[in-house]
Amino acid sequence: MNYIGGVSAPIISGFALYRYNAGDSTGATINVLIVSLLALTLIMGRSHRFAPYALNLFGLTISASALLSALLVSSNGLLWAFLVIWVNCLVLPRTLAVGLNGLVIVVLTAHTRLFDSPLEQVSWVTVALLMAGFGLVVTDQLRQQRRMLAEQATQDPLTGVGNRRLMQQHLEATVAERRRSADFESTVMVIDLDLFKQINDNYGHEAGDQVLERFAASVRAALRLEDGLYRMGGEEFVVLLRGMSAATAATTLPELHRRLSGAVPGPEDPIRFSAGAAILKSGEDWSRWLARADNALYEAKQCGRDRLVIADLESTPAI
Ligand code: GH3
Ligand code: MG
Ligand code: MG
Repeated sequence: MNYIGGVSAPIISGFALYRYNAGDSTGATINVLIVSLLALTLIMGRSHRFAPYALNLFGLTISASALLSALLVSSNGLLWAFLVIWVNCLVLPRTLAVGLNGLVIVVLTAHTRLFDSPLEQVSWVTVALLMAGFGLVVTDQLRQQRRMLAEQATQDPLTGVGNRRLMQQHLEATVAERRRSADFESTVMVIDLDLFKQINDNYGHEAGDQVLERFAASVRAALRLEDGLYRMGGEEFVVLLRGMSAATAATTLPELHRRLSGAVPGPEDPIRFSAGAAILKSGEDWSRWLARADNALYEAKQCGRDRLVIADLESTPAI
């Protein structure tokens, strides 16, 4: 929108000047009106408060411009309408693009005087409909590809849970939230499957992969929608429990460990895991926070595995 608006506004200003000098004050006024509305949408786009409305106003402005210039200035507006139809498809939400393009096509086609012959009218409406249709198909594909790329950049391909990159982003965002409001506590838990290498060694890598998939699905199902689950790598997972206080963690997490450890069947024995958790401290950064959870996990492994240790918690019960 910024690019298209930024390029179009000076060009249309040039037309306004030309028309004013040629004595076409109606055309010049319409051009000035269009440039003013485009400038307004660009300014709105930069404001935090009005940015969500800027795109809709942009679509309305360029569609109205196509209609005004074709109906009130000259039939050259029919050519501008092609550009408007395409841009609407590219930048607007689908429903609004369909609505505005439909309006432009219907209104202009209905004004028979804009066309020199019925053949020209039919040709114009055919090209306009093709552009509107292809525009929707192309933008649908572009949006789908963008979604896929975004997923690939943030998802672990084996288990479908978040990857390390997404984990870091979410941990950083949670730390920032904690800085903003002092009473917003959050907990992170690092999980490591117990003796997982034996599964690979005894049953093959594929059996190991299946266990990882099943395990991730079982943890995901046990979490709240707002909790984050990420695969750090290998058989290590991280759970982000935003808004979970120390008191809640002390009661909820041991229960969660009890419920999940041993719940997923392995090729031989059920899958058990060790976990370490830490509650975010004031002024702490995400890597220090995660490192404390990791140290707690190390302690859980040292104490015999299949247990949860919560960092800095007086008398963490050995589960
Ligand atoms: P511990 O209880 O001390 O954690 O023992 P462990 O055997 O689970 O720990 P270790 O770190 O020695 O083994 C982790 C294994 O995870 C080693 C590696 O072969 C395996 N692994 C890492 N990534 C993958 C993967 O993507 N798929 C499979 N199947 N195995 C993986
Ligand atoms: Mg490990
Ligand atoms: Mg392990």
